[in-house]
Amino acid sequence: MKVLGIESSCDETGVAIYDTEKGLLSERLYSQVAMHAEYGGVVPELASRDHIRKIVPLIRESVAEAGLKMSDLDGIAYTSGPGLIGALMVGASVGRTMAWSLDIPAVAVHHMEGHLLAPMLEDDAPEFPFVALLVSGGHTMLVEVKAIGEYKILGESLDDAVGEAFDKTAKLLGLSYPGGPELAALAEKGKPSEIKFPKPMVNRPGLDFSFSGLKTSALQTWTKSSQTDEAKADIAYAFQEAVVETLAIKCDRALKQTGYKRLVVAGGVGANKRLRERLAELQGTVFFPRQAYCTDNGAMIAYAGALRLNAGESEAAVISPQPRWSLESLSGLSQAV
Ligand code: ATP
Ligand code: MG
Ligand code: FE
Repeated sequence: MKVLGIESSCDETGVAIYDTEKGLLSERLYSQVAMHAEYGGVVPELASRDHIRKIVPLIRESVAEAGLKMSDLDGIAYTSGPGLIGALMVGASVGRTMAWSLDIPAVAVHHMEGHLLAPMLEDDAPEFPFVALLVSGGHTMLVEVKAIGEYKILGESLDDAVGEAFDKTAKLLGLSYPGGPELAALAEKGKPSEIKFPKPMVNRPGLDFSFSGLKTSALQTWTKSSQTDEAKADIAYAFQEAVVETLAIKCDRALKQTGYKRLVVAGGVGANKRLRERLAELQGTVFFPRQAYCTDNGAMIAYAGALRLNAGESEAAVISPQPRWSLESLSGLSQAV
């Protein structure tokens, strides 16, 4: 079954074709990051308009690269939430309309299920069950994953998501947009110093997180520092260490609590080198997607959708994108096939 996946929940237009027999056939990604950089953050209305400009050409290219015609597609998967409503509407309208005109089934994919299943596109795909750490621009969650669609949230951030904490702290330190990767690169130049940041909520039981205080600590430390490049790098280092250590402590706790032996890490912050190194030290086996599949992409949506379409799921010819959509409300794969 050849499935076209469409991702447009935020500022990346991603399309890909996944074949349930041959794997990934082609993919295209367009990032709007340069456009939003001028404003220091994603401007929703501009994001929607740019998705409209890019989505059809990207689909055409992806279909051609796969050596297919539109009529060879067997199904369409599009991100239906969570995300920016206008941006979601673009992918959902195009995807659902294409499916209707080609007379093939379509499924609405949960963006975080896409992130969560991305490691399965790799050769060393994890087996179920596992604990998933989802760390992205909008989410920080520990999820108990029994099977596809069987998700229980063990803990989540009570305020800022980890990616958001990286981005906001980077902005406060005067780094250019998008800040997360910049801050991580600067941290690599820093060294251990007397600067220590709190590890939020590690001394409390449970698996929830809180990252909003860290940016304030970073700003205060920066204001009081010598404000040299060296001081900035050391602050970045201390910030990253505090975040990584907090995540590692909670992942370890989640593995012990569930008794599971596998940890899957996904979402944009999963691209962070120091986080990958530190989590690899935990008891159990850790699975990461390649860096390009940590951040938003069409491949993860094509894959998640292909699993559901292949199990016989499909949606009526309407769209109802959901800016907020609970991961726990999903259901397991139907046994239709
Ligand atoms: P969500 O998936 O929650 O809807 P999103 O799609 O915007 O949010 P992703 O594309 O998964 O998020 O990830 C983007 C986030 O990852 C940004 O906050 C970015 O700063 C962060 N990020 C990317 N690379 C790194 C890195 N190397 N270190 C730290 N953070 C990073
Ligand atoms: Mg993005
Ligand atoms: Fe995402």
